[in-house]
Amino acid sequence: MLREGIVLNESMLKVDAFLNHQMDPQLMQAIGTRFAECFRDHNITKVLTIESSGIAPALMTAMSLGIPMLFARKKKSLTLQDDLYTERVYSFTKQETSDITVSKRYIGPNDTVLIVDDFLANGEAAFGLCRIAEQAGARVAGIGIVIEKSFQPGRKKLTDAGYRVESLARIASLGNHRVTFAEETD
Ligand code: 5GP
Repeated sequence: MLREGIVLNESMLKVDAFLNHQMDPQLMQAIGTRFAECFRDHNITKVLTIESSGIAPALMTAMSLGIPMLFARKKKSLTLQDDLYTERVYSFTKQETSDITVSKRYIGPNDTVLIVDDFLANGEAAFGLCRIAEQAGARVAGIGIVIEKSFQPGRKKLTDAGYRVESLARIASLGNHRVTFAEETD
């Protein structure tokens, strides 16, 4: 992040070099291994994420746990709408609201779900995924985040709602055009 991240402004970090465009497979594998360690004792049956940048870390987590990965789509497909769980989510990066959907076929009341995403800002995407899992009657065991921007309200909102949040990197500030990690200010 320090070497290859680009601080776009005080609230947005671009990490196209290893996570959001070009992807570093060894890093993704290490991320998956770490999330799997955190949640190994929770009998997770499915890893749930949202397209597209959540897919790589979620897939590696699912591989490490030996279970399937499922990603929410951002656009409704024109067919089979009755077979979809749908939630409305406001996108931090696009600054627009969109529907995210998951097929009812792949998630249900027997599932215990681990939610994984690349970034946590206001918690909209993670909350949308929690609501999808809960619509399906599934249990949410927790949320694994690759990069948490701790100066934004997402973590607090999720933990206040009772969800366990495990973040691998916590950013305290993107001020002065640089990344300051939470550990440096704690
Ligand atoms: P939230 O839903 O928590 O407000 O924002 C999280 C979502 O927005 C993530 O799925 C991620 O794709 C995107 N996002 C939020 N902040 C950033 C950021 O600083 N950089 C990038 N690349 N994506 C972000």
